[in-house]
Amino acid sequence: MSELETFDAVVVGGGPSGATAAQELAQKGHQVLLLDRAGRIKPCGGAIPPRLIKDFEIPDELLVAKITCARMISPKSEKVDIHIQGGFVGMVDREVFDEWLRNRAASAGAMRRTGTFEQLTRDHDGTSLIEYSHTLPDGTRTTSHVRAKCVIGADGAASGVARQAVPGAEKVPYVFAYHEIIRSPKSNDVDFDAKRCDVYYQGKHSPDFYGWIFPHGETTSVGTGSAQKGFSLRSAVGALRDASGLGQAEVIRREGAPIPMKPLRRWDNGRDVILAGDAAGVVAPASGEGIYYAMFCGHLVADAVDRFLVTGKAKALASARQQFMKAHGLVFWILGIMQYYWYGTENRRERFVQMCRDPDVQRLTFEAYMNKELVRAKPLAHVKIFFKDLAHLTGLLKA
Ligand SMILES: Cc1cc2nc3c(=O)[nH]c(=O)nc-3n(C[C@H](O)[C@H](O)[C@H](O)COP(=O)(O)OP(=O)(O)OC[C@H]3O[C@@H](n4cnc5c(N)ncnc54)[C@H](O)[C@@H]3O)c2cc1C
Repeated sequence: MSELETFDAVVVGGGPSGATAAQELAQKGHQVLLLDRAGRIKPCGGAIPPRLIKDFEIPDELLVAKITCARMISPKSEKVDIHIQGGFVGMVDREVFDEWLRNRAASAGAMRRTGTFEQLTRDHDGTSLIEYSHTLPDGTRTTSHVRAKCVIGADGAASGVARQAVPGAEKVPYVFAYHEIIRSPKSNDVDFDAKRCDVYYQGKHSPDFYGWIFPHGETTSVGTGSAQKGFSLRSAVGALRDASGLGQAEVIRREGAPIPMKPLRRWDNGRDVILAGDAAGVVAPASGEGIYYAMFCGHLVADAVDRFLVTGKAKALASARQQFMKAHGLVFWILGIMQYYWYGTENRRERFVQMCRDPDVQRLTFEAYMNKELVRAKPLAHVKIFFKDLAHLTGLLKA
């Protein structure tokens, strides 16, 4: 017998997906280690939908702002305000939010440990062996090993677990996102509203995604993303700040990270490793929304790992991806086409913002975002939007 500690599940990464999976597996009575490297706040706009707040029981005090309006800004600087009827989009500060989720997992019984995952090998009996580096109290750096009946790779978009254990993980398309956290303006000289998110569909701010201004109470995230190599995200954010009157605001942090744009074809290695969240590629195309999907994925992965641990059957792991795609595959597919087409040229971006003036488009888009369900109650509205969409696509309606 190995003298190393053996866990039922080792979760690598304590972001929203890993913390959710660790919490739910611990609640089901499994021995769980939640391994997270310390010292970095996840770069993120922090916008979360009501469905997440409800399903994952997020307390009100974690919301640093409640957004009630989204402003879309076209290449010609046309502004379309979408007022969110009877609800709001929550804003979280990822430093506080993620730590709260990790603590909730610990309260459910998961063991927390600070360390950086280094590599996955096999012990003499074939069990997964996880090597991680960490700092001792005297400041020296060392490595340790633990064994796991199952490994969950929830270590984000550049997942080391994915690269080492799941074939095809390196093929995911990415948008690179960068933002600056600035001090929110207090004066009325600037066209800034603490309850409004501004979304810029302008080629100079992003040739294939969008630029954003997301208020977080005391601070604000100003950012942009692009898949185009060579596009200067930093200059684009500088230009966006100048254009929006936020050029002089104090900068608190500058940071960036990749956002995966397509779910991986496989999330597991057919044996004892499974991916969750960004590591599995589950971010909505077009919007870049990933927190809800990461947590929902963490929930499905916890269920699949529970079945695997109980039955010993590795095929139980594949059910997480199947269920995820059943719930959200169609929406991801539609959003992927939308991003490819509508974000492609200045003319299309102009027409896209124009289309967002339509109250039916506004209502359906927001209901889908808020509740994560395609709205089935109004089939005629869908038909109407389809034909409007088609008219815009074929150029019958000009902006
Ligand atoms: C600039 C930007 C803005 C965004 N804005 C939004 C938004 O407004 N709303 C939204 O819904 N989504 C947004 N997203 C996407 C969202 O942030 C991610 O989809 C989400 O954080 C994914 O959660 P996760 O738990 O899978 O991964 P992550 O949040 O990336 O968590 C991964 C965890 O793994 C840890 N880790 C990484 N490597 C190791 C290692 N080797 N060893 C140990 N631990 C490790 C990290 O420290 C981290 O805690 C944005 C992304 C970016 C980059």
